[in-house]
Amino acid sequence: MSKTKIMIDPGHGGRDPGAVANGLVEKELALTIARNLRTALLNHHDVEVRLTRDRDIFLTLEERARLANTWGADCFVSIHINAGGGTGFETFIHPNAGKATQDIQNILHPQIKNQLACMDRGQKKANFAVLRLTKMPAILTENLFLDHTQDAKQLKDTNVIHAITQGHLIGLQKALHLPALKPNTTSTTETNTKPNTETPTYRLRIDGKQVGAYQQQDNLIEQIQQHLHAAKKIELERILKG
Ligand SMILES: [Zn+2]
Repeated sequence: MSKTKIMIDPGHGGRDPGAVANGLVEKELALTIARNLRTALLNHHDVEVRLTRDRDIFLTLEERARLANTWGADCFVSIHINAGGGTGFETFIHPNAGKATQDIQNILHPQIKNQLACMDRGQKKANFAVLRLTKMPAILTENLFLDHTQDAKQLKDTNVIHAITQGHLIGLQKALHLPALKPNTTSTTETNTKPNTETPTYRLRIDGKQVGAYQQQDNLIEQIQQHLHAAKKIELERILKG
């Protein structure tokens, strides 16, 4: 059976920055969340993930849709940050979207919203080009307003960026019934089949506050990278099993 293919589309890019306010730039936040989501999906699920852009380049809306169509993606998720005087979280699907797409919105929307302390603007429909031109179920998420003081404060908090990523991860996992990544798939060919029970867990503290405990090295490194510029003190503690 072929793996589920998920195309993540970080909104804007290159000469199109998207919304800009409060020192925040939509194209940058969208790319950060998209990359984090890719890492999270690949860490937890046996899926294929692509980004329409993995750097700061300009792509037309048609190109984004074509990349997903040519690849034969099973799901298209476009990630944006809102602006224009509102506040909160909302999602969009195309007005003519079928049941499969509506089901994804019905599951994904509340999963993301539940991760955020903000207003729920609702599950909406709009004739956006990426939603219209993609041949697979497609959804567009608008994650807080960067021109709203309180939302902007949240968007500057790495915990909130992590929460947005988690919401997308859990939502997609449920909506697309993603299979869990099989642990130690390579060890089946080894003669020494003793399972690796010694994988250590690391507790990560940023400026004295615990951010999380990680067994997956990728997750740990991703978290450290996110805090690297702002943190004064980063502590890593190896948790010994009792
Ligand atoms: Zn946008």
